[in-house]
Amino acid sequence: MNAPRTIYIAGAGIAGLTLALGLAKFGLRVVVLERNASVSEYGAGLQISANARKVLDNLGLSQAIAARSFAPEGIDIFPDARPAPLQTLTLGRAIKSRFGAPYAVMHRADLVEILHGAARRFANIDIVFSVADFTLDRSGSTLEVSAKEPDGKTRKARPFAFVGADGVRSVTRTHHLDGPDARYTGKVAWRALVPPEALSGVLNLNRTTLLLNPNFHLVAYPLPYRNTVNLALFTHESESDLSVLDQRAPRIKSRNDKRLASILDSVGEAWTPWVLSGVQTPVWHQGAVGLIGDAAHAMVPFQAQGAAMAIEDAAVLAPLLAASPSAEHAFSRFAALRQARIKRVQDVSASNGKIFHMRWPFSMARNTVIRVEGPEGHFKRLAWIYGYDAIQTGES
Ligand SMILES: Cc1cc2nc3c(=O)[nH]c(=O)nc-3n(C[C@H](O)[C@H](O)[C@H](O)COP(=O)(O)OP(=O)(O)OC[C@H]3O[C@@H](n4cnc5c(N)ncnc54)[C@H](O)[C@@H]3O)c2cc1C
Repeated sequence: MNAPRTIYIAGAGIAGLTLALGLAKFGLRVVVLERNASVSEYGAGLQISANARKVLDNLGLSQAIAARSFAPEGIDIFPDARPAPLQTLTLGRAIKSRFGAPYAVMHRADLVEILHGAARRFANIDIVFSVADFTLDRSGSTLEVSAKEPDGKTRKARPFAFVGADGVRSVTRTHHLDGPDARYTGKVAWRALVPPEALSGVLNLNRTTLLLNPNFHLVAYPLPYRNTVNLALFTHESESDLSVLDQRAPRIKSRNDKRLASILDSVGEAWTPWVLSGVQTPVWHQGAVGLIGDAAHAMVPFQAQGAAMAIEDAAVLAPLLAASPSAEHAFSRFAALRQARIKRVQDVSASNGKIFHMRWPFSMARNTVIRVEGPEGHFKRLAWIYGYDAIQTGES
């Protein structure tokens, strides 16, 4: 009997761990090289839409995710300091019955912990932490990986494929595929977690809240498993200011907006800035080396789809790596199946960034569209995102 194929993955983030689980289920051997000493606690809230949740459920994670996530009943949209929402988009049960899985919010660390916990139960997944560096030698007919392990030893292997799931600053992309550096998008996310008591009576904590303003937009939702409310405030910042962001709070004035004033008060100075960079590259693979997740296509989070795309990528690539005659064949097919969809999602995300920050009179036209579209219009407009079946796409 042939030995199972071995796949090396750089990065134990959402993309890398989801792919490891998918490959292990097909009986492949997986080695994940992670730079950090453990699965990292960084990040904050994530919205996990139905298209991604279906993949996670298929990996047997439905109950674990349900226990640590929350399904908001809707999204309240407040343009320009309105006292009442202009529109409340329906989520909750309606999403589940329409797309076959819930739309939930959770802390990134909880999702990564669930993925890591599941991966540890597979004997055919080996996760190596504190990997200082790795090199890929593609000069011969086979791919050779060398990785520096924490004890100083060098691990050498000739895997079937190497997948860079090493995030927006991927060295797999920049060093091993001659791909471009990530580029600053002009926007910064300011993140904060505040106790629900600080916002009771200010926001409806059964829902997600979206504040729209020419100078910023703000997304808020509860994370009851962590007894906290996740806030993400998005501002325009000049590139020259980026190195000093952590020495100041966002420059947002609440003026006559009591809701915003209460939110800003609840955080005080405790904002954590996160510079938003994007990746645009047509090259996702060469030979037996390929990319998934942010490493291939990081995008602004204004449609909340970066992690969802990473999860979909994993579901599409796993069966291809399991069944294709060569890694190159698997990666080519993967790029053909995924690139147009990813580009479309990147474009919608970028265009939301403009729409959310529109100034008068364009903001009036935007508000009319939001009102006329109704509470369920987004289901129809975005059915191509939420209704996508990544599992079937990879296996067909
Ligand atoms: C403010 C904000 C809000 C967001 N909200 C949402 C949302 O609501 N919904 C959604 O779907 N997405 C959201 N996203 C996007 C989402 O966070 C990312 O798209 C997602 O985390 C990408 O996952 P990844 O596994 O590709 O990369 P990462 O999560 O960055 O993981 C990369 C992993 O690789 C490791 N690594 C890096 N370099 C190396 C190396 N050289 N060797 C070994 N390991 C390495 C890292 O330590 C890390 O563990 C948001 C992003 C931001 C910034």
